[in-house]
Amino acid sequence: MSKKSVDLVKKDLEHIWHPCTQMKDYEKLPLIPIKKGKGIYLYDYDDNKYIDSISSWWVNIFGHSNPYINEKLKNQIDDLEHVILTCFTHAPIVTLSKRLVEITPKGLEKVFYADNGSSAVEVALKMSYQYHKNRGETRPYFLSLQNGYHGETIGALSVSDVGLYKDTFESILLKTLQVPVPKDQSEDSAKEASIKLEELLKERSHEISGFILEPLIQCAGSMHMYAPLYLTLARELCTKYGIHLIADEIASGFGRTGTMFGCNQANITPDFMTLSKGLTGGYLPLSCVLTTNAIYDAFYGEYSDNKAFLHSHSFTGNPLSCSVANATLDIFEKDDVINENKKLSIYISKKLERFKDLKNVENIRQLGMVAAVDIKGYKPEKRIGLKVFDYALERGVFLRPLGNVVYFMPPYVITCKEIDQMMDVAYDAIKALHV
Ligand SMILES: *Cc1c(COP(=O)(O)O)cnc(C)c1O
Repeated sequence: MSKKSVDLVKKDLEHIWHPCTQMKDYEKLPLIPIKKGKGIYLYDYDDNKYIDSISSWWVNIFGHSNPYINEKLKNQIDDLEHVILTCFTHAPIVTLSKRLVEITPKGLEKVFYADNGSSAVEVALKMSYQYHKNRGETRPYFLSLQNGYHGETIGALSVSDVGLYKDTFESILLKTLQVPVPKDQSEDSAKEASIKLEELLKERSHEISGFILEPLIQCAGSMHMYAPLYLTLARELCTKYGIHLIADEIASGFGRTGTMFGCNQANITPDFMTLSKGLTGGYLPLSCVLTTNAIYDAFYGEYSDNKAFLHSHSFTGNPLSCSVANATLDIFEKDDVINENKKLSIYISKKLERFKDLKNVENIRQLGMVAAVDIKGYKPEKRIGLKVFDYALERGVFLRPLGNVVYFMPPYVITCKEIDQMMDVAYDAIKALHV
């Protein structure tokens, strides 16, 4: 390791507490200082480059240091870097809001901004709760899917169901209920799960404000995928029993599932849709919640009615973030990204075939621009993910398995040749495990 790298790591560990990490792991598995990013590659201080096959935690959809986005950001920074969004507004957010309403499912007309995914989930939950309250009803429960993930703040964690993150905090969380997620991508499983949903709603819908789910794919929940039919049925049931449907598209949105949004594949409009991650092409923090005019109207009235939604974040609707979000949407339009991605996902599915030859692999699956395989015989203490990580990194590919799940979620600017490298290295890494 170069002197520069060694020095950075040493200074880093003096003061930085890294996210989602047992810090002691860095004794054995050194941090890697990244000097620059370009396209799908990350570069360290020793002239190594790594394919960012997980889009830097699923956010970077058009590559690092994208020339088009860079230019738009540079232009914006000389005009306005930030302004409070109460009393004031600005051009980038006005443009962005109209565009978001145009590309999201019909009927979503209003956009409320926050600055990260978890905060958007908090906003959606609070709005849903207050909507009922403004109409004279108290509904203290939220419903969510088993194995779901919606973020790490208290409210978002409450509706999540990934024990690793949640168990420690159980006694300080909100009141929630979970229903089974369809167990695979078949329509039968979707129907089965919807029956369970209706059983619960029959009993308890009057106590429930809304039902939050991740459309089609539970990313943090081990890249678990299910059929669009479940969304159709869930939409029908939420309407029938008078609760909100909250579609958390923070990870599934912006083309990841093969369509612009997961909801598109079921042709449904949720009551709330949360967006973040790909929204800014992975450049800057920004998130939002889209909702209907009907919901908006339930908050509209005289100040003295106490109906307003009194929620804000310091960096709500930041102009720099909005300008890169606009640049991101430009790229979707000018490069016909959703159609172009179809070719890439067909290529990925062909490459995925090969994993069937591996005896230690099961549950090979894909949805649009996400592919995943499970390594058999998983024991958490063996930490096979780390072995895959190490092996791949040495060969120029950054993979970050979730437990025993090796997955690919690359930026959309990846080429077929680079897909070869990414997936061949993963194949060899799994083969080398001998488990
Ligand atoms: C990442 C994620 C969140 C949380 O977003 P943060 O910006 O990390 O707070 C919420 N929901 C889903 C589906 C996510 O994947």
